[in-house]
Amino acid sequence: MLKDQDRIFTNIYGMHDRTLKGAQSRGHWDGTAAIIKKGRDWIIDEMKASGLRGRGGAGFPTGLKWSFMPKESDGRPSYLVINADESEPGTCKDREIMRHDPHTLIEGALIASFAMQAHACYIYLRGEYIREREALQNAIDEAYASGLLGKNAAKSGWDFDLYLHHGAGAYICGEETALLESLEGKKGMPRMKPPFPAGAGLYGCPTTVNNVESIAVVPTILRRGASWFAGFGRQNNAGTKLFAISGHVNNPCVVEEEMSITFEELIEKHCGGIRGGWDNLKAVIPGGSSVPCVRGEKMKDAIMDFDYLRGELGSGLGTAAVIVMDNSVDIIKAIWRLSKFYKHESCGQCTPCREGTGWMMRVMERLVQGNASVEEIDMLFDVTKQVEGHTICALGDAAAWPIQGLIRNFRDEIEDRIKSKRIAAE
Ligand code: SF4
Repeated sequence: MLKDQDRIFTNIYGMHDRTLKGAQSRGHWDGTAAIIKKGRDWIIDEMKASGLRGRGGAGFPTGLKWSFMPKESDGRPSYLVINADESEPGTCKDREIMRHDPHTLIEGALIASFAMQAHACYIYLRGEYIREREALQNAIDEAYASGLLGKNAAKSGWDFDLYLHHGAGAYICGEETALLESLEGKKGMPRMKPPFPAGAGLYGCPTTVNNVESIAVVPTILRRGASWFAGFGRQNNAGTKLFAISGHVNNPCVVEEEMSITFEELIEKHCGGIRGGWDNLKAVIPGGSSVPCVRGEKMKDAIMDFDYLRGELGSGLGTAAVIVMDNSVDIIKAIWRLSKFYKHESCGQCTPCREGTGWMMRVMERLVQGNASVEEIDMLFDVTKQVEGHTICALGDAAAWPIQGLIRNFRDEIEDRIKSKRIAAE
């Protein structure tokens, strides 16, 4: 279990002073200028050595991503954009950073922007996050007033401006290129890639888009050293991580823990166990609504990291939003509800997603009623495979994977419902 002295987020529950003074008393903004003066290459090398993988779901190595940004400007400015459009069902970790520990993010934004030679950074905030916007804007104002942002930010010699942009509430704007479109004032529709944002992103300029947590952990990693951070978790799955556990546990919570903790330890230590005990555990979605669900009995000993959940269980760590479902749940209906969500949020510009999400949702609707034939289960699986990997952005995959997980893990339940419906009708 992670020791208190190793926690990066020292005020995640909002129990302490969240103002600049409070943040500084807990060690934030300590020696920021000295870190920046070590130079761009040192920062990027340290981030690579730390093993940090992006906390927004995809798990791409953060230091490597930063290194794709141009070292010399060709006349265009570079930008850092922070993705705070946390909209995936089940995911609620970044909001705790923004409303209770906002200075971790602001300090991280300065250091990361310097490493990418960006004088400006935009935080794109989810439309529904009103209180988070207020808390974050207050913290930004405080930082400007104290000289930590603006000209010669934090006496580092680097001029840096940080802007908070409030979205309008569309899930698809969390996709990095749709986010950039929206930030430019257009409809939030994903772009074809390439070009990737590091080549042509915001306003056609080199841009890196990072998740809130990925940026907020940067200052502490650089202060305490890459090897400290790399010392947590299994190889290739380094660091500490915010887990957001919801559903049928006795105490749902957001908690910072060591990567590669077992599911059992995570639930027993922080959530007071499964509601009704471990025998009552039916299914878990371990990484936010877009990753496939896993049967309860396979989860107990699961290692909560990127490689185990993908390699051993065919699911994923995603954002580490752990949705726990006990035996009271109609799992077919639960997955149908997710299908409805993705159908509603599809931007509609590519055919497999626009048509496929609606088609899948309608078949799922009939499976909930048992109003289908057993052969349709395979047909549905086949359609998910035709959507997966054939769309402009990952929303198509996100719509397909929960259904694939359902069919792989709970096919018996779907078939039973179809059969009992048929028997009842005879
Ligand atoms: Fe839009 Fe869906 Fe295509 Fe993404 S996959 S671009 S959400 S239609």
